[in-house]
Amino acid sequence: MKNIWKQKKIKVKELPSGDTLNINVISVSGHPGPHIYLQAGIHGAEVQGNALIIQLIDFLKSYKATINGTITMVPLANPNGTNNKNNTYTNGRFNANTGDNWNRNFIDLVTLKRASFEKFCHKNKQTENKVLFTHFKKWLKQTLIKIEKELKDKNQIHENNEINLILQKLAIEADGVLDLHTGPIATYYLYTPEYAKEVSKYLKFENTLVIPHYFAGAFDEVTFHPYTELKKYFFSEFGRDLTLPFESFTLELGSEEAFDLESGKRDVARILPYLKYKGVFPSNMRIKPSPIKNQTIPLENFKTIYSKQSGLFHFDIKPGETFKKGDVIGRYFNAQKIKIKNNKIDHLGIEELKADYSGKVINIFPSAVVPQGCELLQVFKY
Ligand SMILES: [Zn+2]
Repeated sequence: MKNIWKQKKIKVKELPSGDTLNINVISVSGHPGPHIYLQAGIHGAEVQGNALIIQLIDFLKSYKATINGTITMVPLANPNGTNNKNNTYTNGRFNANTGDNWNRNFIDLVTLKRASFEKFCHKNKQTENKVLFTHFKKWLKQTLIKIEKELKDKNQIHENNEINLILQKLAIEADGVLDLHTGPIATYYLYTPEYAKEVSKYLKFENTLVIPHYFAGAFDEVTFHPYTELKKYFFSEFGRDLTLPFESFTLELGSEEAFDLESGKRDVARILPYLKYKGVFPSNMRIKPSPIKNQTIPLENFKTIYSKQSGLFHFDIKPGETFKKGDVIGRYFNAQKIKIKNNKIDHLGIEELKADYSGKVINIFPSAVVPQGCELLQVFKY
């Protein structure tokens, strides 16, 4: 049996000029098995995930055996964002018309259809795990289709939820979701829901951020939240502790506005152990052990340092580097502070920013022109 490749173009939007924006959904299937879903670039400037997808396609193309299950891949998942250029910069994080973050406002099925969810749970309280999760996927799909119809009937499909619904539907029956993002200028890091902390170790990332099981509208949350709600409900109502066969992760692959095909190969190597863990590849498949050590940090230790001043900013440390309390993180330059006194240069206009605690740099502000109050850098606080 051979792997079967398919592609499907889905219209995202009609443009005022009459042309259309489309996404090109690529999938490969082999024997029955898990469904893994990957998408890149819901934030339109965060494009490195496309290099991962291309290199994964290339890897699978030359993989001689038949895989188990299906891998669905959506490169350039949000053409709205990627096409939105402002000179050299891609304004891909927010909808330019509405201001909405493209990775928010996904539809939480369980909250919206709570009564139906509880009815499902009671109906299936004694269903054995495998069948239960098959039924649950069916419930998720039917519920999403129903909600979409309700929104259409009420004429409530707008720019953001149009693309949201398309992507949510593509991932609704997945067993694993990898949502590919980047930071502004950043090191590699990963968001995992608390319950999937152990499984997240199969994704070879230096920094893993553990998030609680709430829903704030992002794609990873909207895909795992129904499952964590199911687990919670089964435990509290029936005393049944379910092991979830589903995970979703947000992978932050370095910096935005960067597309590096060679890094894309290394990015594939980061996710292969996870695909193997899920059963896409046989358990005897040999994967070179990764030298990357996962470091896990709870969300409360992920800190944003807001700029206390305005000016030009020179970073003395790079993403991925560690620092100690009191270290100089960077230097502000304020032209108004250059001072000449008694025919001498009294002040160069440069002031140091020192660390209040020890940690590791994850993200830094991508522009040297820094306004007061901006998110100057994000760090893991040790
Ligand atoms: Zn993003």
